[in-house]
Amino acid sequence: MDTQAYLSDFLTKQAQKDPAQKVFHQAVSEVISTLTPVLEQNPIYIKEKILERMVEPERIISFRVPWQDDKGEIHVNRGFRVQFNSALGPYKGGIRFHQTVTADSLKFLAFEQTFKNSLTTLPLGGGKGGSDFDTRGKSASEVMRFCHSFINELYHHIGYHTDIPAGDLGCGAREIGYMFGQYKKLTNDFTGAFTGKKPNWGGSLLRPEATGYGVAYFAQNMLATRSDSLKGKTCIVSGTGNVGIYTIEKLTELGGKVVGFMDYDGSIYDQSGVDAEKELVFVRRGSLKEYAQKFTHSVFRPHQKTWDIACDVACPTACENELNADDAKLLVKNGCKCVCEGSNMPCTPEAVDIFQQAGLLYSPGKASNAGGVAVSGLEMTQNSMRVYWTREEVDQYLRRIMNSIHTSCLTYAEEYGLKGNYMAGANIAGFKKVADAMLDQGLV
Ligand code: GLU
Repeated sequence: MDTQAYLSDFLTKQAQKDPAQKVFHQAVSEVISTLTPVLEQNPIYIKEKILERMVEPERIISFRVPWQDDKGEIHVNRGFRVQFNSALGPYKGGIRFHQTVTADSLKFLAFEQTFKNSLTTLPLGGGKGGSDFDTRGKSASEVMRFCHSFINELYHHIGYHTDIPAGDLGCGAREIGYMFGQYKKLTNDFTGAFTGKKPNWGGSLLRPEATGYGVAYFAQNMLATRSDSLKGKTCIVSGTGNVGIYTIEKLTELGGKVVGFMDYDGSIYDQSGVDAEKELVFVRRGSLKEYAQKFTHSVFRPHQKTWDIACDVACPTACENELNADDAKLLVKNGCKCVCEGSNMPCTPEAVDIFQQAGLLYSPGKASNAGGVAVSGLEMTQNSMRVYWTREEVDQYLRRIMNSIHTSCLTYAEEYGLKGNYMAGANIAGFKKVADAMLDQGLV
């Protein structure tokens, strides 16, 4: 069977196995679609069934999370940890607390994480976890009771040399603190078993900013390949969570002008650009209406996305598949030059095709949003060495890692005849490192 036929047969069989797992199949298809030249040059990957092994998580843990609210009523949520691949190091990846969390969504995120972590060059495997619990509208003591209950089961499966969770959507330093506290109580062990901790008890400086800053550094590198820069470029960022806020901050610091951003309620068009000092604090507070009332040069557009606003650089940093083919067409029509993903798989496959056909610079989240997990890796290093690095030191490492991911994407894409294709370069670079480690470690 030729490689193309093998791959299409592989994808059909995968889809038949778990037909309901749509986002997971989307992520697998995206990776597979770029691997033909690698498999042609390295038939051993096919012979050793590397793809078949790589799409099967090493372990999925699913458990009950009972907790009591402030009125004494009992609630039961579902907890999960997907330990996807440990060929390069202990499982590493965030914990997501959001009502949309299912085993399927976490399987997709853990699969992506394996490639992302591989790209960072740090010794990290891939994993992801979470619960269908929503922290919004809950009191701090309810969140604490939930986090303790979550860890009462999860602590059996994690640890500094096994699996190191971190934050993600709905899970920030407060939740990491509660989870770490209970983990320490149950294990009697103060180790860096979580990242995203507060810097006064083991966290790394710059961890909250890392993903967003990394996105802006990556966009800057992409533009530089066309002898361009962020200076004076109009930018749009979706999502006003941690990633969005710090993407806006760094894009602005590097000379960009963020004219549009959005959250669940709608979007803001601000022709003068977000002022990093005066205005960003309102974005962070999460009330776009308040922003528009306060800064009258801006307009609030209820329930409207931002992608129709003309821009040079677009950074989707919200949720998966938020940017579709129609949005992509608008961006291309309005002269967008660069799409740099800040979240995991925010652009639909159709949108990516449109960007690639139009010759835009497009980077997948697994490359451009790897700054967060990279600084988590640096947090682990600091914990092992029992040292704290300064903001400047961490920032220097972060820049170096983002530069090296950028170079890897370009180098691998070119080596396999797909010059300038960041998606192919990221997938091939991430895949090869994991695949070679799996071959070295035998059939386990
Ligand atoms: N949740 C983040 C991500 O998707 C960070 C994971 C980590 O720091 O382990 O990459």
